[in-house]
Amino acid sequence: MSSKNICPVCGYDKLTEPPYDLLGYPSYEICSCCGFEYGFDDGSEGKTFEVYRAEWISNGYPFYVVSAKPADWGDTEIQNQLKNIEKVNYHPKI
Ligand SMILES: [Zn+2]
Repeated sequence: MSSKNICPVCGYDKLTEPPYDLLGYPSYEICSCCGFEYGFDDGSEGKTFEVYRAEWISNGYPFYVVSAKPADWGDTEIQNQLKNIEKVNYHPKI
């Protein structure tokens, strides 16, 4: 598994591909965890990772794909997962 398959919004590390390629173009994958669509929520909607993340956390960080939600999803898990964001530094083109 590539360490680059990490969501820059929530730190989810099981994306099927990197959210942005080497040139910064988005995958348009929707994060199973926070529901952010790379290239749409930032491109079309104009939301930054930080704004979307803050809204998502204030909404109680709901897991987007319920069937993929870890059984122990909670405060500890979200804090650990957010640390993954430090491993990557994406520079979206749009
Ligand atoms: Zn995410």
